[in-house]
Amino acid sequence: MPKVKNLLHLAITLFVSCASASAQTTRSEPERQLAHDIYKEFVEIQSGFTTGTTTPVAEAAAARLRAAGFPESDIFLGGANPKKGNLVVRYHGTGALKPILLLAHIDVVEAKREDWSMDPFQLIERDGYFYGRGTGDDKAQAAVWIANLIQYKKEGFKPDRDIIVALTADEEGGGPYNGVAWLLKNHRELIDAEFALNEGGWGESAGGRRISNDLQVSEKYVVNFRLEVHNKGGHSSMPVTDNAIYRLAAALQHLANFGFPLKTNEVTAAYFQQMAKIETGPMKEDLAKAAKGSQESMQRLAAATPAFNATLRTTCVATLLEGGHAMNALPQLAAATVNCRVLPEDSVEYVHSTLQRVIADDQVSVKLLGEPAPGPASAMRPDVLAAVSRVTDALWPGLPVVPIMVMGATDGKALRIAGIPTYGVQGFFFDRDDIRFHGRDERMGIQSFYEGHAFLYDLVKLLSKSAR
Ligand SMILES: [Zn+2]
Repeated sequence: MPKVKNLLHLAITLFVSCASASAQTTRSEPERQLAHDIYKEFVEIQSGFTTGTTTPVAEAAAARLRAAGFPESDIFLGGANPKKGNLVVRYHGTGALKPILLLAHIDVVEAKREDWSMDPFQLIERDGYFYGRGTGDDKAQAAVWIANLIQYKKEGFKPDRDIIVALTADEEGGGPYNGVAWLLKNHRELIDAEFALNEGGWGESAGGRRISNDLQVSEKYVVNFRLEVHNKGGHSSMPVTDNAIYRLAAALQHLANFGFPLKTNEVTAAYFQQMAKIETGPMKEDLAKAAKGSQESMQRLAAATPAFNATLRTTCVATLLEGGHAMNALPQLAAATVNCRVLPEDSVEYVHSTLQRVIADDQVSVKLLGEPAPGPASAMRPDVLAAVSRVTDALWPGLPVVPIMVMGATDGKALRIAGIPTYGVQGFFFDRDDIRFHGRDERMGIQSFYEGHAFLYDLVKLLSKSAR
């Protein structure tokens, strides 16, 4: 009997603590509804990098803001071309502090219906997740920025700095219509800020357990190369050993077998050090040792997860392939695109010469595409770190905040180069072994969406007030 009573007591305690926790970690029902509706609207607009257009997303956001009473003079719509629209809105503060910029991109990576197990452009709720292209990258943050801005206005919140939200085009895949680049070049005054918050840092979980809330301070940069093999070709009825497709295939096999050196830098060493404190499993020791430079530990970590691998080294991978010109002709051209994600401390020249060395075939040309620009890390502002830590601890007591370098590249780089320090932070949690950005059946935990909504609401409020 006493045993049962104790269990009952425990059950009640758990129930009460869960109830109070959920009351703190999400916003009110009407606010959640608004965030959901904006999210759904954004996800269901096809804003694919090559086939879609961001303008209807920007316009949908503008319509929401107008309906909430934002004056036309504080809303800007425009972009590099009519299909590549951006939105910038300003919520006025007292002006005591310089503005804060809240950034999110509204284009998405392409998604084909046949590659997915559902329609990628419907927001589908299933098994505790929101499914759809952009649910994680990056329409959740875009929707939340708008929903929270509307809520601040509704409350009559008076920040000490202007809060600027920019929803921008063409973050994915680069190209000439990137919204942040266009705004910096043509309307810098609209987005000029003391610092910015962006995608790039999210919450990590494993096995359903929250591990850390990550704060991104630097990122890898992207370099693309084109591998080309030319051949005089001929009739396919009389093949010769020197074949452009075979040569390219051999070059790609060399690349597949190669790994850039494993190493840490200031940010990733700090990351592994923090993760060593958090991890309880067999990787704990390796994380601590990797932070101190152990090659053996780095090797085990890199083999354990794609994410650790990408954190520990520059990576290059073949992403596109073309070749031949007729079914009955020997190929005159075989080509591949190789996409590299480069550590901030590795140079373009180093990566280029390494690829040439690894491929080791002077018939395979390795051509650099575009003009890659390595981006600096943001200075680690104590006020930003303190605010992120404080809000994190309030929502998820005891959860550590971990400074990170991300392996994907974001628009934060352009802002950092332009002198606006940019921090990636979201408060959305993703399973570190099941990151589906850019992939099939992209998804976001429903509870996680609403918690991130609440997290960003509190964080922006805190960062918009003078320390008192
Ligand atoms: Zn993104």
